Amino acid sequence: MKVAERFGSGHRVLVTGGAGFVPSHLVDSLIARGCTVVALDNFVTGSKENVAHLLDRPTFTLVEADLSDGLPTDHPALAERFDAILHMASPASPTDFAQLPVEILRVGSVGTLHLLERAVADGARFLMASTSEAYGDPKEHPQRETYWGNVNPIGVRSVYDEAKRFSEAATMAYHRYRGLDAAIVRIFNTYGPRMRPDDGRAIPTFISQALRGEPITVHGTGNQTRSICFVEDLVRGILLLLDSTETGPVNCGTEHELTMRQLAELIVSLSDSDSEVTYVTRSSDDPEMRRPDLTLARELLGYEPAVAPEDGLRRTIEHFRARLG
Ligand code: NAD
Repeated sequence: MKVAERFGSGHRVLVTGGAGFVPSHLVDSLIARGCTVVALDNFVTGSKENVAHLLDRPTFTLVEADLSDGLPTDHPALAERFDAILHMASPASPTDFAQLPVEILRVGSVGTLHLLERAVADGARFLMASTSEAYGDPKEHPQRETYWGNVNPIGVRSVYDEAKRFSEAATMAYHRYRGLDAAIVRIFNTYGPRMRPDDGRAIPTFISQALRGEPITVHGTGNQTRSICFVEDLVRGILLLLDSTETGPVNCGTEHELTMRQLAELIVSLSDSDSEVTYVTRSSDDPEMRRPDLTLARELLGYEPAVAPEDGLRRTIEHFRARLG
């Protein structure tokens, strides 16, 4: 299945969380296509630096605002209609779950509702960034979109998992009952340049530790698995879904499934580091294994991830090396 480009030159696109890791790469691709992009961010986990290279472009505007308070009514960049709205705003790392629990719940509930209302009013295509965390600690492996998940509703990760599940439900309600042209992407673990070294996710943590020559702190036995996706592949998948008329949900990621121990060893070797791999206490409800079934993404969108873990990790390590000095 080949998806034709639907949003390009002359189209106006709003990206919430646009100064974050994944969203800033999406913004780059949309600008490269000729779209006029408004990025809205409150910088709670993102950074102006991620979009600094775009600030003097006439087709790019950065608006500082908290989506949970609603879209600002007095900003000229938000006055005109949007053709597409990508809802990417949400803190997303395990340290954020503990430090920003209410912020996560708010942006994934009232924030989503504000944006859905705007999308209906504009007649825009709405794309919601959901997550593999919607499957919780899965009992089905690999995870297909038909699986309803295994989430502990009162666990330490629930603020994120349940906010995303709420957002999915809200998106489907606006699609079914208000005629919204909507899409949901379930994003699996993604990594790449512009991640925060201290955000608590495995890849930036292991790379920072390896580059500093510190022990690599693997949680638990290190036998739990994740499938890791380089940000370039993810962005391509998201844009394919945006351009399509599909609603989904559609999984996006890769089938490169590694144990945390393998991931730590690979990062040590690719960084030419002498760091030792050590094992520390694992947090509760940490999923045991995670790998997307990509059949739907392949059939509906012609999606195929292209970047091997060694290549993507090497590029990420180089970015961190430059950043950490
Ligand atoms: P990130 O923290 O780098 O990006 C999120 C951005 O949203 C940040 O710039 C942050 O400042 C902004 N934001 C948060 N709350 C806001 C609010 N109330 N108002 C305005 N802006 C707000 O994280 P990321 O990893 O790039 O994730 C981006 C999106 O993709 C998130 O929705 C996340 O849930 C989803 N996702 C990411 C992954 C991954 O592996 N990176 C996996 C699954 C889902």
